[in-house]
Amino acid sequence: MADNSFLAWPFFEPRHRELAERIEQWCEETIHDAPAADIDVACRALVRELGRAGFLKLCVGEADGRPDARSLAICRETLARHHGLADFAFAMQGLGSGAISLFGTIEQKRAWLPRVASGEAIAAFAMTEPECGSDAANMTTSAMLDGDEWVLVGEKTYISNGGIADFYLTFARTGEGEGSRGLSAFIVPADAPGLSVAERIEVIAPHPLARLKYDNVRVPADALIGEAGEGFRIGMETLNLFRVTVGAAALGFARRALGEALAFASDRRLGSAKLADNAVTQEKLADMVTAVDASALLIYRAAWQQDVGGGNNRRAAAMAKLFATEEAQKVVDAAVQMHGGLGVTKGAKVEELYREIRSLRIYEGASEVQRQVIARDLLKEHSR
Ligand SMILES: Cc1cc2nc3c(=O)[nH]c(=O)nc-3n(C[C@H](O)[C@H](O)[C@H](O)COP(=O)(O)OP(=O)(O)OC[C@H]3O[C@@H](n4cnc5c(N)ncnc54)[C@H](O)[C@@H]3O)c2cc1C
Repeated sequence: MADNSFLAWPFFEPRHRELAERIEQWCEETIHDAPAADIDVACRALVRELGRAGFLKLCVGEADGRPDARSLAICRETLARHHGLADFAFAMQGLGSGAISLFGTIEQKRAWLPRVASGEAIAAFAMTEPECGSDAANMTTSAMLDGDEWVLVGEKTYISNGGIADFYLTFARTGEGEGSRGLSAFIVPADAPGLSVAERIEVIAPHPLARLKYDNVRVPADALIGEAGEGFRIGMETLNLFRVTVGAAALGFARRALGEALAFASDRRLGSAKLADNAVTQEKLADMVTAVDASALLIYRAAWQQDVGGGNNRRAAAMAKLFATEEAQKVVDAAVQMHGGLGVTKGAKVEELYREIRSLRIYEGASEVQRQVIARDLLKEHSR
């Protein structure tokens, strides 16, 4: 069992400590480390199991529409520490339905959120396009109103849950204004005629991922979330909420890597001594645990701020994601190094973590983009 002394920090309420215990126990009883033979089947099964156990209720909005960021972060940290795909299955239910929780009408919430929470409907978030990722304001997928239907044309790529989702929360250009001012958000059911999976994409840490084609996809007028032209704000606010939880997943991978390194170094002999007795190893372990603790502080500070602190938390969320993902990469790399040849051997847990951690520095706002968010916010504050 990993160190959970952070739960004594003042960011948490008793319900968070109870949740941490419950999800830890669920992971120990349910999750098996063996790699999945069929990633789609494994992912669907994990969503169902997480739904049955009640955890996916945390991914959809509470009475005020906002999921509790601390609960999401605790779940993602714990799931990632046990199993990357379980974390992914949980996280995407939140990201894919987040715009509905935050900005949907009562009817949209009723139609989708109970099914997302039970694990019956799989959610996806479709923003990235082949020609624009970080620069989402310049997306070209279009949506035109035709009578009482919207008609979507374009392509989305690197869409998590692509191929297994029941709906794609899709962002498209509706043209109310230039750039970010002319985008809107739509709920597009996977079986909408004209929507197809153009390509399945394989990445180093396997999970369902696809390029999607929208070939005159028709959805009813009430598939629009919020007002036309509000899509960019809806997308950014959704990402802002879930960005902290990406940091939490990175923290889970880092904690697991630290645990693996501690176990290995305490056991492995270097001549007459143990690897853990070596001063260089101890220095590495000290840096690893310090990075883990500092990441946890930034993440749970940002999550607490999101839940109860009020005000603008963009900088805190960006700092938490940036620091936790970058530091987790270093912690995992140090754990691989400490394992020697075993560290890069297929099937070793640290080898898996090395592949799992990498994309977290890229998606939901790459590290370079987070630095821009932080610096701009800082400069704005300075110029006031
Ligand atoms: C595993 C995985 C899952 C994903 N899941 C989803 C999903 O579910 N839904 C979805 O919509 N997208 C998803 N994505 C896409 C992801 O969000 C994009 O890959 C990401 O936003 C980066 O966009 P890009 O790949 O087009 O790179 P680009 O935006 O072209 O960036 C290329 C490089 O330039 C850097 N860069 C960009 N802008 C700047 C700048 N202003 N200054 C300096 N450097 C800059 C970037 O950091 C990056 O290093 C996923 C990606 C991966 C890898």
